[in-house]
Amino acid sequence: MLTAIVGINWGDEGKGRMVDLLSQQYDVVVRYQGGNNAGHTVVNERGRFILNLLPSGILRDETVNVMGVGMVIDVEHLFHEVERLREGGIAITPKHLKISDKATICMPYHKLLDILEEERLADKKFGSTRRGIAPVYADKYYKKSIRMGDLLTPEILREKLEGIVEWKNLTIANGYGHEPIKVDDMLDWLMQYGMAFKDYICDTTEYLNEAIAEDKNIMFEAQLGALRDIDYGIFPYTSSSSNISAYAPLGAGIPGKKLDQAIGIIKAYSSCVGEGPFTCELFGEAGDALREAGGEYGAATGRPRRVGGFDVIASRYGVETQGATSLALTKLDVLSYLKEIPVCVGYTYNGEALSRFPLGLKLQEAKPVYENLPGWNCDISGCRSFDALPREAQDYVKFIEEAVGCPIQYISVGAERDAYIQMF
Ligand code: GDP
Ligand code: MG
Repeated sequence: MLTAIVGINWGDEGKGRMVDLLSQQYDVVVRYQGGNNAGHTVVNERGRFILNLLPSGILRDETVNVMGVGMVIDVEHLFHEVERLREGGIAITPKHLKISDKATICMPYHKLLDILEEERLADKKFGSTRRGIAPVYADKYYKKSIRMGDLLTPEILREKLEGIVEWKNLTIANGYGHEPIKVDDMLDWLMQYGMAFKDYICDTTEYLNEAIAEDKNIMFEAQLGALRDIDYGIFPYTSSSSNISAYAPLGAGIPGKKLDQAIGIIKAYSSCVGEGPFTCELFGEAGDALREAGGEYGAATGRPRRVGGFDVIASRYGVETQGATSLALTKLDVLSYLKEIPVCVGYTYNGEALSRFPLGLKLQEAKPVYENLPGWNCDISGCRSFDALPREAQDYVKFIEEAVGCPIQYISVGAERDAYIQMF
């Protein structure tokens, strides 16, 4: 069984929590895109762990974890992430962790360029995570990057770096006026942090094809949500990679294989980090109360997230883009404080109703159409069956299911592993 777990909205849908729950049924967990620009916290009996680069299955000894072709890897960050997990008693060996030889290394100068550009933009800045993700993906498509597999032939590294460093200094020194970067520093960095993973680097295509031949269950884990996809999201307020399920086999290393299912993680309301159009945004008291109830503050930064009601137009687009075969609805319990639940049921542009999620100027200027649905206004965090939910909560779930046109398979009513309802 090949299953992708993907975000339907703007990210922070609770993917970490659902992947942690569902990955128990899988032999292999694969990350297929992105770098350490997002992450999630997984809480289990061994403690509380933050994963930025490592696939979520890393916390279980018997699961094999793969960092795929489509990833960009800051090996220094990975080094420290692995170290922290080991301190927490998690075993990480080449048996548990396989890193694609085709994955791209996110170098210190990518981070530097990210920071220099944000500083140049000053008050017009973009809200980059400053982890070098946009620069490293740009260089990948420029075909001027170091891949994990290059670490296996260190004799060519210096020559490769000489060409790249000369080219990068055209921008870093001549453009931004920063001190030039040095080949020796980059080489030392690769030796110190990259070489630590020498024994983990392999042809993940070969490994995954073998796993499929042995009928293993494989889960593909995505970062962020459909609306942050580089092509289909709210460009340019997107991530720099493809996070949609269709990309999962490519980014993992098995481009010829097809997924059996894509489970979309969808939140019972909306949240959005940073700049960009967010039509359903709620302001003032309504927004503050929802943010508070949902704990919608950046995991790393503590920055308050923008929040809104469930967005029918954006979510329907997310479901379509992800090709979701079923959904996991998360954080339904967060809405329990409300007597009436505001839902964004449509958008208008220049006074006309839009039937599809727009992009560009239309999206910038779209206005939300809000309706109130009846709330249940009581604690539902102990409910473990659909029948146990209050009528209004059942109706809310059914409303979402119908509005986006995809069956809801799981309903999450709390952050704890067992706080969910399985529908089928
Ligand atoms: P991700 O980026 O999609 O993995 O999501 P985040 O981890 O950034 O945000 C999800 C947060 O909500 C985490 O702190 C989870 O523990 C919490 N969470 C997940 N599902 C639920 C839920 O159903 N109810 C409540 N109350 N919290 C949840
Ligand atoms: Mg998150």
